[in-house]
Amino acid sequence: MTRRRRIYEGKAKVLFEGPEPGTLVQYFKDDATAFNNQKHGIITGKGVLNNRISEYLMTRLGEIGVPTHFVRRLNMREQLVREVEIIPIEVVVRNIAAGSLTRRFAIPEGTPLPRSIVEYYYKSDDLNDPMVAEEHITAFGWASPQDLDDMMSLALRVNDYLTGLFLGIGLKLVDFKLEFGRLWENDEMRIVVADEISPDNCRLWDVKTNEKLDKDRFRQDLGRVAEAYQEVARRLGILPEVGPTDVRGPVAIT
Ligand code: UDP
Repeated sequence: MTRRRRIYEGKAKVLFEGPEPGTLVQYFKDDATAFNNQKHGIITGKGVLNNRISEYLMTRLGEIGVPTHFVRRLNMREQLVREVEIIPIEVVVRNIAAGSLTRRFAIPEGTPLPRSIVEYYYKSDDLNDPMVAEEHITAFGWASPQDLDDMMSLALRVNDYLTGLFLGIGLKLVDFKLEFGRLWENDEMRIVVADEISPDNCRLWDVKTNEKLDKDRFRQDLGRVAEAYQEVARRLGILPEVGPTDVRGPVAIT
């Protein structure tokens, strides 16, 4: 890491001032936390894998017209992103019951949901990220009704696209979390996908065996965490197997 101004340090990433105004450098750490910071660990190589996986997914989303903050990957652990005003809401999309949903409604893990469910959580470590309704979000001014509308429709587009992409490589997209930001261009504002999309914030299960290939391996002490992230990258075809030029693209599972 070179010397530059550190803007923000989160649990899994650090944001530095970027090379030009309006840009930031997002550095991916190997740190993992769960249960609102009560559990902490280091997963060697996770940052490198998440940087690569998030680059790949954000690029694919950009290609189908989903705006994101991603500009380009700079090196193994860093990517250049547009500076956005982060909306303090985590948007969770669920396709199959897992995690907090199973506890809240006593639904067995793995139950397919009748339709995709979108939930909102207010980003606050002090309050333990409480689930909130649209009413709270607009009344407390965290996002406008128009922002929320854009976030919801982008989240569903991302879900449709990623569900298909992962199914093609033998993975079920069980659920995932997105963050959004306001990107200002001249006097125009657009809502864009921000943060990262990686096995840290998606649940991914093998289609045939239901093996977990995501952060639940860390949360539930299942072991082989880095190997699981690596398997996701391998299936996406973005893991250099021989050398840096040996990147093949997704491997279809038939
Ligand atoms: N998630 C996340 N960050 C959070 C909370 C959840 O990335 O602070 C992701 C999580 O990885 C999962 C989805 O959002 O893919 C739904 O998580 P859930 O509400 O089930 O929470 P958990 O079981 O992690 O408490």
